[in-house]
Order: sequence, then C-alpha cells, then structure tokens
Amino acid sequence: MRETKQKTAILEFLRSKRQHCSASQIYDAVRVKIPNISLGTVYRNLSTLLESGEIISVETSDKSVFYDGFTHDHAHFVCQDCKNIFDFDFPSSAKIPLEEKGFMLDYERVVCYGKCPNCLKK
Ligand SMILES: [Zn+2]
Ligand SMILES: [Zn+2]
Repeated sequence: MRETKQKTAILEFLRSKRQHCSASQIYDAVRVKIPNISLGTVYRNLSTLLESGEIISVETSDKSVFYDGFTHDHAHFVCQDCKNIFDFDFPSSAKIPLEEKGFMLDYERVVCYGKCPNCLKK
C-alpha cells in the first residue's frame, strides 16, 4: 500500500512535468508530499516503473540518467552544452526493420547528441 502511494506520487510528478528529471529532482519533489521517502526508495520505484514501461529513461553522454513520464514514440536530442533534453516526434514508420532480419525488438529509443539552437547562438 505504501509502495503504491510512493510509486503513484513519482508517476504523477513525472507526468505533470513536460521535461526530463533526474532521480534527485524527483526525490526533492516527491519529498514535499511524502516527507519520509528515501532516495533509495525513489530509485527502486523508478526501476519498477521503467520495467513496466510506465516511464522511460534518457542517458546523457556523461551517463546521467533522466526520467520521462511521456512514453509515446518520440526521439530525444541531448544538448552537450546546456544538457537540456528535447523531445521530437518520431514516426514509427522510421523504425529499423529488425524483425525481417530475425531479431526480436523489445523497445527502441532514439537519442541524438549535439548542440541546441540556443547554444549555437552563443
Ligand atoms: Zn544547449
Ligand atoms: Zn522525452
């Protein structure tokens, strides 16, 4: 019961944010509602949510992990300068034809790395 409440709070926070959050950002936000939650509990719930496909994660080039409550098909662009993560629509027609080559696909995440327009202006 307690677990469910914590998981729901994490999921609600991620879905309310139209941005990608680190575990410590999630921890700070959820702690407002559930003061006795620990960072370890946040991590544990995040991995459960990832496994069930309710959230997705994006890794930046420095191996920081950010979590996304929006699981529709989309690609990510990670800016190497400001570390912002941008969402892009990614049509499923663009998928790699793996099945016909005999592979079984569990999931596919496209992440692009580079510089965003704001950083290029500097
Ligand atoms: Zn940038
Ligand atoms: Zn995203």
